[in-house]
Amino acid sequence: MNESLRAIWQELGIAEAILAEKRLCIYEEATALVDVETGLDGRVWQLTVEAAAAWRAMQAAAAGDGVTLRIASAYRATARQGELIRRKLDAGQPLSTILQVLAPPGCSEHHTGRAVDVFSPGGPVVEEAFEQTPAFAWLQAHASQFGFTLSFPRDNRYGYVYEPWHWCYQPPAQV
Ligand SMILES: [Zn+2]
Repeated sequence: MNESLRAIWQELGIAEAILAEKRLCIYEEATALVDVETGLDGRVWQLTVEAAAAWRAMQAAAAGDGVTLRIASAYRATARQGELIRRKLDAGQPLSTILQVLAPPGCSEHHTGRAVDVFSPGGPVVEEAFEQTPAFAWLQAHASQFGFTLSFPRDNRYGYVYEPWHWCYQPPAQV
């Protein structure tokens, strides 16, 4: 853990022991990012070059099957993750509760620029009900062909809530 990350954790009151307890890892923050899509609120979502290409290919294939996939969240900086946790702390939520839905700064797959939160227009956004949508059924059947996997299935080993919307692109293994 580098010094700037350690400072963020200290400010939020997150103990380093949580890394071992929750079996978390520190993700390298993406550096080279490309714009992928603009949300309804005007935010521009970014991914790494490779993940963006895989996402576009998957999105096009889904569209060919009549399924519209859109991004609710993509790359997120470590500092931004800290701000999101700080906001919930300031609203009075206990840290342990917050960390069931938000990874500690540095530990979110969104830092890698390879993770996307997916929704389909008109359907639930970042809610478990996404599991009931045709978009989720399509992803379960086809996402792996594009290198995307579901990171947090039910009863996952990180103790995170089930996130049917969160998919991460893993680059093909280097030979
Ligand atoms: Zn996510």
